[in-house]
Amino acid sequence: MLLTNLILPGCGAEDKFDIQISDATNKITTIQPTSHAHLTDPPSRVIPTLCHPHVHLDKPFLLTSHNTGTDLPNYIDLAPQDGSFSEALANTSKAKERYTHADLIRRGSQLIAESIQAGVTSMRAFVEIDHVTRFKCVEAGIELKRKFAEQCYVQLCAFAQDPVFNAEKHGEENRQLVEEALEKFKGEVEVLGSTPYVEGSEELQKKNVEWATRTAVEHQLHLDFHLDYTLDRKSEPIVWHVVQALKGQKWTQKAKGKKVVVGHCTRLTLFTTDEMTTLAKQIKDAELPISFVGLPTSDLFMMGRPSEDDWGGSRPKGTLPVLELINRFKLNACIGINNVGNAFTPWGSVDPLRLASLCVGVYQAGTPRDAELLFECISALAQSAIGLDDLVVRSLKDGADALFLVISNDKMINIIGQNPCIPARQRVSVADMVWDPPELQQRRVIGKVRKS
Ligand SMILES: [Zn+2]
Repeated sequence: MLLTNLILPGCGAEDKFDIQISDATNKITTIQPTSHAHLTDPPSRVIPTLCHPHVHLDKPFLLTSHNTGTDLPNYIDLAPQDGSFSEALANTSKAKERYTHADLIRRGSQLIAESIQAGVTSMRAFVEIDHVTRFKCVEAGIELKRKFAEQCYVQLCAFAQDPVFNAEKHGEENRQLVEEALEKFKGEVEVLGSTPYVEGSEELQKKNVEWATRTAVEHQLHLDFHLDYTLDRKSEPIVWHVVQALKGQKWTQKAKGKKVVVGHCTRLTLFTTDEMTTLAKQIKDAELPISFVGLPTSDLFMMGRPSEDDWGGSRPKGTLPVLELINRFKLNACIGINNVGNAFTPWGSVDPLRLASLCVGVYQAGTPRDAELLFECISALAQSAIGLDDLVVRSLKDGADALFLVISNDKMINIIGQNPCIPARQRVSVADMVWDPPELQQRRVIGKVRKS
């Protein structure tokens, strides 16, 4: 395969190159200055492929899957009525009872396929295990992981969305099923995920954290928490306990190479500078491999609701400011799309570039350098957070594995009554991509996923 007239990462827009790739080995065989004859043709831009560090594989598109003419289940009656978090939890629980294998494969395939179109070649995919779904979602996840193996690395996270201790909510049964799944699907499941905040009391939340940490060490898995998802100052932040539990389990020695991710963490937005400094210091002093994942599309929708006596004018943003975590506190952080098309996040798409674009406004981050860092948050930093550093393509060179995203700039805008067509704006810099992402039709992933 020969690709011509390309602007490469790290090179100026005036230098164009051709890349030759061997289909047999998926290696780059040559990179050389372009021989493209028409130097006035708009060049294509090469950028790294994208990553979802946090996406739910079993519950996308519950609100938008209209399975007309099929025998797949329908969820239309579960559309939000008040849009609250408790309603989202209750309706998603009802939806789970309807999951079938064919339905999980259909919606999961749609999620992965749309993501690949957007330029995603790796993802951490959460699959729920509890007394209702049992192993249905993991089994579908494994099938999907194999189905898309060449186009997208699907890293499966066995996920306890429901309580694993609260006795009134099938805690013990859920916990046993998760533990059973880790044995049964050894090698397929790479991450253990849990949701301490669904337990209720602070004491049970801490038990949940301790159990998950201990179990991840025992099974040599990465660890992922949905954590501190609140804007209530009175609620005790559990992140301190995560740090303690990791130290207590001697994570850095006993789970070498395994990463820890904490997602949402909206409660941290209420921390003082001193508290944030202390948290960052504790993490760094203990050399804990923790990354924070901001999930703005869900957080903005769910958090910061006005109180009943307020007319609705005050809506705090309540999503983790990941650029400050990186720049100011030198913490590892990135952003993810979390949910798409369900009651937790009825809006948005699977496109990480659109997510990064949203963050320009949310984080008030308008410089080209900010845009470049936001791009890192949906590519290299996201991959590193979930332990897929070996998939990060740091440079394009002869002999290297080919895996990158090409953004074409040859689009013409066709307006009836306007002849000739109008050439679309060229997107040349990374900031161009983040400030106003290119359409999916302009994106093409080149190469295959090969994980060592
Ligand atoms: Zn999530």
